[in-house]
Amino acid sequence: MGALPEELKLGFRKLMRDVKIVLIGAGIGGLTAALALQARGFKVAVYEQAPQLAEVGAGLTLSPNATHALESVGLGPTLARVASRPERQAVLHYRTGQVLVDLERGDLPKKKYGADYYQIHRADLHTMLADAVRANDPDAIKLHHAFVGLSQNANAVDVTFANGVAITADVVIGCDGIKSAVRDILWGKVAPRFTGNIAWRGLVPVERLPKGFKLNPPSAAAVGVKHSMARYLVRNGTMLNYVAFAEKTGWEVESWAVRSEVSELLAEFADWHESFHAFLAATPPELCFKWAIHDRDPLPQWTKGRVTLLGDAAHPMLPFLGMGAASGIEDAVVLARAFQAAQSIDEALKRYEGARRERATFIQLASREAQARLQGGKADTYTKTEHKNEEFLGLFNYNPATVAV
Ligand SMILES: Cc1cc2nc3c(=O)[nH]c(=O)nc-3n(C[C@H](O)[C@H](O)[C@H](O)COP(=O)(O)OP(=O)(O)OC[C@H]3O[C@@H](n4cnc5c(N)ncnc54)[C@H](O)[C@@H]3O)c2cc1C
Repeated sequence: MGALPEELKLGFRKLMRDVKIVLIGAGIGGLTAALALQARGFKVAVYEQAPQLAEVGAGLTLSPNATHALESVGLGPTLARVASRPERQAVLHYRTGQVLVDLERGDLPKKKYGADYYQIHRADLHTMLADAVRANDPDAIKLHHAFVGLSQNANAVDVTFANGVAITADVVIGCDGIKSAVRDILWGKVAPRFTGNIAWRGLVPVERLPKGFKLNPPSAAAVGVKHSMARYLVRNGTMLNYVAFAEKTGWEVESWAVRSEVSELLAEFADWHESFHAFLAATPPELCFKWAIHDRDPLPQWTKGRVTLLGDAAHPMLPFLGMGAASGIEDAVVLARAFQAAQSIDEALKRYEGARRERATFIQLASREAQARLQGGKADTYTKTEHKNEEFLGLFNYNPATVAV
């Protein structure tokens, strides 16, 4: 087909701008997608099952690839104010607490990759995204709408919710997390698989840490035997966030809201160095949670007709590279750019999946492999050459706001 006359191109763009885009799930991925689409002039509606957007979760890592995306939707200044930017990061020996690998952060990620490396409380990121989406359109987020079904034809998608509401959309993006109902409908119901890993997640106000106790450095991971840990500061250095992993069967609840006893956690990590016990023991009982880590295999295709998937719904990943949130954020900005560049819904979804699936699948599989590096009992011989982390894999060197779509 020859080149389109200018006025026809403008007509297509206007039609695309009027497309009714429905996002299912107001998590980190869904809200970033909403904001990135709004920034390009699209009107979006985000349907979330929860009755309110509550303060749930603990720390998340935003490597430069994710920071680029968030800066592109205008959140750079808020991030710089709210998120923590570690000066250094270390890998520690679980039994001795000694530093095995020392990495420079601070100004370096910006120099090398063009954007900062941050750590942030999930609730803070979630709030800043929701506020920005609502500032653009106060009605964009529809709470208390649990998606239950959809049917589509060549022109539209009919969507139903548990509260009896039914809507029609031009395109639907399933951003509904690891247990995605949209994914089940598109690709068949397959339950997420328990991976044999339990994670404890805690937040410790720094004033509860023992007097004179030093976090050396504040941002670190620790390698152990069938166990590993990561800890870092969030909320302007006022809270220490940690996540502690154990290979363990017998309990399989996939939830972010299940409380755990601090004593259970201390018993699980009894053979770890006292420098770890110092902060684990200081966890307030109401801020200690555990969840059973689940996984799904990569999908060979995300999109069917006018419906596609984003974030954990498309590619849930084990937390061992700390790239789960970052990958959903990357998807979100690429999706919005694909809609901006395309002249039809079909083209937009093809551009989106074409730009994203290979990288997301790579990170999904690499996240599985990282478990053995961290928990395979290599602490005694762990050196910088062993440390094949997300930066080593080249994952920081990606800008969702400029990558080809
Ligand atoms: C409550 C919560 C707390 C978390 N805390 C942490 C944490 O502390 N640290 C960490 O590293 N990661 C955490 N995560 C996971 C992390 O946010 C995600 O892995 C990552 O950000 C990918 O985001 P996502 O938007 O794809 O999925 P999610 O963040 O899982 O968001 C999915 C959203 O879809 C909604 N949803 C699900 N089913 C339906 C439905 N049928 N209809 C409508 N809405 C639906 C969910 O309520 C949720 O808001 C948490 C996730 C959740 C949901």
